[in-house]
Amino acid sequence: MPTSFKALAELCEKLEKTTKRLLMIQLVADFLKRLEPDEVKPAVSMILGRPLPTYSQKTLEVSWATLSEIIKRITEVEWKVFMSIFGKTGDIGSATKTVFEKSKVKKQATLLERELTIKEVKRSFEAIAEAAGQGSREKKERQIEVLLSMASPLEAKYLVKIFIGEMRTGFSEGLMEQAVSKAYQVPLDVMQKASMVVGDICEVAEIARKKGLEGLSAAEFKVFRPVKLMLAQMASNVAEALKEHGGKTAFEYKLDGARVQIHKLDNEVKIFSRRLTDVTKSLPEIVEIVRKNVNAKEAILEGEVIAVDSLGNPVPFQHLMRRFKRVHKIEDAAEKIPVRLYLFDILYLNGKSLISLPYIERRKILAENSGDIPLTEQIITKNRKDAEKFLKQALDDGHEGLMAKKPESVYTPGIRGKRWLKIKPVLEPLDLVIVAAEYGYGRRHAWLSDYYLAARDAEKGEFLIVGKTFKGLTDAEMVEMTRQLKELAVKEEGRRVLVVPKIVVEVAYNEIQKSPKYKCGMALRFARINRIRDDKTPEDADTIQRVREIYERQFLKKGRYKTE
Ligand code: AMP
Repeated sequence: MPTSFKALAELCEKLEKTTKRLLMIQLVADFLKRLEPDEVKPAVSMILGRPLPTYSQKTLEVSWATLSEIIKRITEVEWKVFMSIFGKTGDIGSATKTVFEKSKVKKQATLLERELTIKEVKRSFEAIAEAAGQGSREKKERQIEVLLSMASPLEAKYLVKIFIGEMRTGFSEGLMEQAVSKAYQVPLDVMQKASMVVGDICEVAEIARKKGLEGLSAAEFKVFRPVKLMLAQMASNVAEALKEHGGKTAFEYKLDGARVQIHKLDNEVKIFSRRLTDVTKSLPEIVEIVRKNVNAKEAILEGEVIAVDSLGNPVPFQHLMRRFKRVHKIEDAAEKIPVRLYLFDILYLNGKSLISLPYIERRKILAENSGDIPLTEQIITKNRKDAEKFLKQALDDGHEGLMAKKPESVYTPGIRGKRWLKIKPVLEPLDLVIVAAEYGYGRRHAWLSDYYLAARDAEKGEFLIVGKTFKGLTDAEMVEMTRQLKELAVKEEGRRVLVVPKIVVEVAYNEIQKSPKYKCGMALRFARINRIRDDKTPEDADTIQRVREIYERQFLKKGRYKTE
């Protein structure tokens, strides 16, 4: 029998009420066991708060402004009811549930309500994503309205949460891997490995359900389906990196650009951004370079694209991001903002995965297969002085610092480990999410120009404010930011607007102080926005745990300075 969406919503409600990880895993595993094979993929996706599969290049393109209008229309409940609940809980889903419960119109229309199935909801999401071209906005709205009209208050709560991508149950992808392994009795390590190469836990769960251990063991990379990126942790200096990597490591320039994953099959090339979105159309000259230089039939490569000036010197990241967003008038942009590609890794070549090979071997294979495309500048050394000289050289050349990569390390997709370390000589900036903003004064009175910056709580999924700033953006950026934030607005409190956490910014600061001002007990001092991180999602933002780590490390450093 098809599983209802109600059952999924009830499961999420139970997850929301507990922080016990083992219990969460058990609840989800029990649920997964009862699903029909074709329900596994959409159910896993929805439990994680994703309307569509990770690798799908489609998005719903539905703003909170649109969604809230539809909720108002269906329920006819006074909006201040929503605002008052939202003010108390900060949770859009819960506030939606309450207005649905209070809606007289909705109660009279319970005839319209009928048991939605998981597959029906999935089809609705797909239809919303697929609506394009003229009249697409109306089509999307009609689909959403039909879906929400059929939903009970609890279902509406979770539909809305999935729409805006904010589940807040604390049930992460890592826990999902454990739940799938338990439900379908497949070893966790095999699950995790398959998840790495397939790049999508929803698809892996389906393989586990339909083909079991055998299917999972055979899972491999597929060209044109992006793989999650290996990520780096921070190191304070080159000495720490050398020590962490057993005395010898591969230092490389850390270029201040945008990460790209390049897939090639015969003459076709696709480029994916750090968020794994397809940016091929924005970077035609990179496609051309790869076509010309990479002779292999099939390959997945990684590198960094940087913007350069007419002399070939690197220019700030903002210029580059304009290129990534541009899909029209490309030739014009290519002339004004030239970009250059540097490669640093290869994951797959002619039917074979290379990720279990040591980094130095992958680099060798990369060099043999990249023609004239430059690789990132590299030295492999045991010597601290040489490494420091190399760091200085990188900074003098206008780059951010160094990466240190353990020479014998394998490539671990999606994992932020110590095998890759980044060394940047300043206090590491934080990637934070804007959760509210205030109108400015004087010249800025019409702009949302003062931003509340929040870090993600990795355990609970909520966003905790750690600072506020009006510094760092240009006037033009503030105008654009105001437009975007207004679309994400959930609630206005005088001059302050609370927004759906969506926009990530990189924030520099001088110190993290203890402070009662915010719930987390810490506050950034002299925060300023370095840049808007369009390439990051709120899930990629820094966590409150990381902020605390930096906060604590400051004391270690201060203590040491005193004794030195
Ligand atoms: P972060 O985004 O601060 O976590 O730093 C890691 C990022 O540095 C990667 O995602 C790349 O975009 C970038 N990067 C620049 N140069 C390199 C390099 N040589 N190797 C790996 N990543 C690099």
